[in-house]
Amino acid sequence: MPGFAADVSHASGFDHDSSINAAPMNRPQTVDSPAERAWQRARDILLAKLGQAAFDLGVKSLRLCAATDTAVQLVAPTAAAATWIQTNHPGALEDALRAAGLPSTVDILGEGRTQGELFPGEPAAAAARRARMRFGSLVPRYTFDTFVVGGSNQFAHAACKAVAMQPGNHYNPLFLYGGVGLGKTHLANAIGHETLERQSQGRIAYLSAETFMTQLINALRRDKMEEFKATFRRVQVLILDDVQFLANRERTQEEFFHTFNALHEQRRQIVLTSDKIPKDITGLEERLRNRFEWGLIADIQPPDMETRVAILEKKAEIEGLDLSHDVAVFLASHIDSNVRELEGALTRLSAVASLSKTSITVEFARSVLKDLLRDRRTITIEAIQASVCDHYGIRIGDLLSQKRTRDIVGPRQVAMYLARKLTAASFPAIGERFGNRDHSTVIHACTTVSEKLIEDGALRAAIEQIERRLQATP
Ligand code: ADP
Ligand code: MG
Repeated sequence: MPGFAADVSHASGFDHDSSINAAPMNRPQTVDSPAERAWQRARDILLAKLGQAAFDLGVKSLRLCAATDTAVQLVAPTAAAATWIQTNHPGALEDALRAAGLPSTVDILGEGRTQGELFPGEPAAAAARRARMRFGSLVPRYTFDTFVVGGSNQFAHAACKAVAMQPGNHYNPLFLYGGVGLGKTHLANAIGHETLERQSQGRIAYLSAETFMTQLINALRRDKMEEFKATFRRVQVLILDDVQFLANRERTQEEFFHTFNALHEQRRQIVLTSDKIPKDITGLEERLRNRFEWGLIADIQPPDMETRVAILEKKAEIEGLDLSHDVAVFLASHIDSNVRELEGALTRLSAVASLSKTSITVEFARSVLKDLLRDRRTITIEAIQASVCDHYGIRIGDLLSQKRTRDIVGPRQVAMYLARKLTAASFPAIGERFGNRDHSTVIHACTTVSEKLIEDGALRAAIEQIERRLQATP
C-alpha cells in the first residue's frame, strides 16, 4: 500500500504540531513549539478582549492539543469548559486564533466525559442538533445570516442555499472552489447549520479532508474499518472541506471513493470545497475527479470593493464594534485579496484600539495597517534558499544538486522545512523547486527537521535566525 505509507508519514510525522487526532494525548505539544507560541498569543488576545473574569472561566483551562495547517484541536478539563467560550462569546476564539496566525477551524474536546454528560445545561434542541453531527463541529458564526452576498459569491451562495433546502435533490456533489480566505469554509458550514436546522432527523458530517484521512488512519491502526465505513455511510449530508488535500494520498482517495459512491447512490448530499477545480488538482485519481465533476461546480471570486466594505460593516455589527464607514472604506481599499486578511485587519485594529483605549480613526487605521502590511510580506522559496545558503555558507548550486554530503543535506532539509512552513507551496511543488525531488523526500525532510528541533537547541536558534532575517528583508 504505497499510498497509505505516504499518508501515514504525513499524518503522524510532519511537524510535531500537525498530528491532529493521531493519538494527540500521547504527544503533547512541546512547550515552545511555534504552534504553542501562537496559542499563547491567542490566549493573550482573548485575555485583552474578554477580561480576566471571562478568561478565567472559559479560556484559562484550555490546552493546545494539536494544530495543523487547517485546524486546531484544544482540550478542556471538563465538558462544560469545552463549550463555554463558543457559547458565550461566539467567534471570539476563532478570531483570536486567526489573529495569532493559527487556522480558525477549531475543535474542543472535553476530557473523559461520556456523550450524555458532555453538554450539561445546553438547550435540548441544540443538544439534539449536536448529537446529529458526526465528526468535527460547525463554527457557530459561519451561517448564511452572517455571510455577505455580492457579485463575487452570489452564484456559490445560491447553490449552497439550494442544497441546504433540499439536500440530495439538486447538485450532487456540490463542488465549491475559490482562493484562500474567500468563504468556502464559511459556506460549507452554513449548509451544515441550515440542514441541521431544517431537518428534524438525519446525521450530517462536516470535516476537512485532512481529518478524514487521520480518522481513516486511526481506524486502520485500531482495526476499526467497519465502524469507520458505517459511520460515514449513515450520514444524510457529508461535507468535506479542502479536498485538494487528498492529492497523492491514494489510500485515502480509495476509501473516499467508496464512501462517495455509497452516499451518492442513496441520494445523500455531498458537498466538497477546494482551492482548485477538479481538473487542476494534480495527484487526484481520474475516477474521483470524474465524480467531483458530476454535480455543480461553483466558484467564489475575490470580493469587489463594495462587498468588502459590507463584510467589514457586518462583522463590526456582529462584534459590537464602532467602525465608521470611512475606516471601513479605507481598510477595504487597502486589503483586496482575501476576506480572511480583511477580517484579520479589523480584529487587529479593534484589539489595538481597545488596549490603547483609542477610537478607530482613519489615521489610527493607517498606522496599524502599516505594520500589518509589512507582516504580510510574502516569502518566496528562492528567498528561503538564498537565506539558508547564506547562513550555512554553501552555494545555491549545491543546495539544488544531487549531492548527499552531510554539510549539504542538513541545510537542504532546513530549507525544505522552511519552504513548507513559510509558503503555501505543497510538498510536490517544493520538491520540484529543489532540483526536481520527489514529494516524499520533502516530507521526510520536514519530519526530520521537526523531530530534531525538539532536542537540538542550536538548530532551533539557527532556524529562528533565518526566519527573522526572511521576515525583515523587503
Ligand atoms: P476559505 O475556506 O475559502 O479559505 P473561509 O470560509 O475560512 O475561507 O473565510 C475566511 C473568513 O472570511 C471567515 O472568517 C469568513 O467568515 C469570512 N468571509 C468570507 N467571505 C465572507 C462573506 N461573503 N461574508 C462574510 N464573511 C465572509
Ligand atoms: Mg477553508
